[in-house]
Amino acid sequence: MNDCIFCRIINGQIPSFKIFEDEHVLAILDIGPLNQGHTLVMPKAHFEFFDECPDGISTKISAAVVKVAKAVKDASGADGYNVLCNNGKAAGQLVGHVHFHIIPRFTGDGVFDRWPAKQYEIGQAEKILEKIKAKL
Ligand code: 5GP
Ligand code: ZN
Repeated sequence: MNDCIFCRIINGQIPSFKIFEDEHVLAILDIGPLNQGHTLVMPKAHFEFFDECPDGISTKISAAVVKVAKAVKDASGADGYNVLCNNGKAAGQLVGHVHFHIIPRFTGDGVFDRWPAKQYEIGQAEKILEKIKAKL
């Protein structure tokens, strides 16, 4: 995966500010932070979407996100934080190697606010619910 920028960081070909590393997971500072301490947590193996990660990897990523989120929150003095994982271009994913953003947030920081929530019309929730459950 030579054309993947995160694989190159993982392989040490590109420098990064490393926060945490173990056999399966790497956490680094995002080079374009939304606030100071904005962190990326990723598997060392290349997967594009989170749902492509095998259980053994997704659980390790989840545990690392929890551990690093607490450190980022405590170190930055943030009032809160967002955990965000963009999957696919339509969802805003620019780097096709799955990663979780941990974004420290300060009251009124203007980074982003509420998203444009929609409403279900009668019967729609039941329909999509059944479709999703059938795919589990
Ligand atoms: P995405 O939109 O794919 O969820 O976010 C990709 C993130 O990777 C962006 O926030 C961007 O700033 C960050 N990023 C892109 N290239 C590099 C890099 O070379 N090093 C680091 N540390 N972060 C990067
Ligand atoms: Zn990769």
